[in-house]
Amino acid sequence: MRRHFGHQNWWPGRTRFEVILGALLTQNTSWANVEKALANLRQARALSPEKLTSLPAGRLARLLRPSGYFRQKTRAVQGFLRHLNNGYQGSLARLLRRPTAELRAELLALSGIGEETADSILLYAAGRPVFVIDAYTRRVLARHGLASAQARYDELQSFFERHLPADPALYNDFHAQLVAVGKTFCHRERPDCAACPLGVELERSHARA
Ligand code: SF4
Repeated sequence: MRRHFGHQNWWPGRTRFEVILGALLTQNTSWANVEKALANLRQARALSPEKLTSLPAGRLARLLRPSGYFRQKTRAVQGFLRHLNNGYQGSLARLLRRPTAELRAELLALSGIGEETADSILLYAAGRPVFVIDAYTRRVLARHGLASAQARYDELQSFFERHLPADPALYNDFHAQLVAVGKTFCHRERPDCAACPLGVELERSHARA
């Protein structure tokens, strides 16, 4: 995958706070739409926890509108900020210093943050060795006979974490490569296995079956 796509240099974001906002906003929408919302926040000079906290909810919602489901996402961003301000005096550095399991549990307890979002924050903002599972990863594993299509999130995550060294840089680009495969070749209908860099692996898995 790396040979085909090159390093993906994830996660797009100039600061750890931007990475977190991107993770909160990218649910159920394209990255292009997230970029529009982030550009709105940048233009409003609101890309910091302090500035964003001071924005009234209505204005924040208008700025986030391009990311879709913007009311839900406004609540998720505000919930995250409330947690940061109440528990960590607004210090992202203090929050991101928490032990991995505790930080994950704290994030999952917040509204609008599921496992994929929490793990994206842990890996891409906090640099923890936590493998992120998304729909593309699930599809690739199932099609290659490596996991059941109904496998739970934690089962898929432990599959990767059992087989790979606990290296955040490796997990970072591995997940990004799987997303590139999913977007480019492993379509829901009619996957383009002949052109896909994982096509050889698929043939091997068929030969083993
Ligand atoms: S070879 Fe590529 S396109 Fe085909 S199933 Fe595997 S990941 Fe999907």
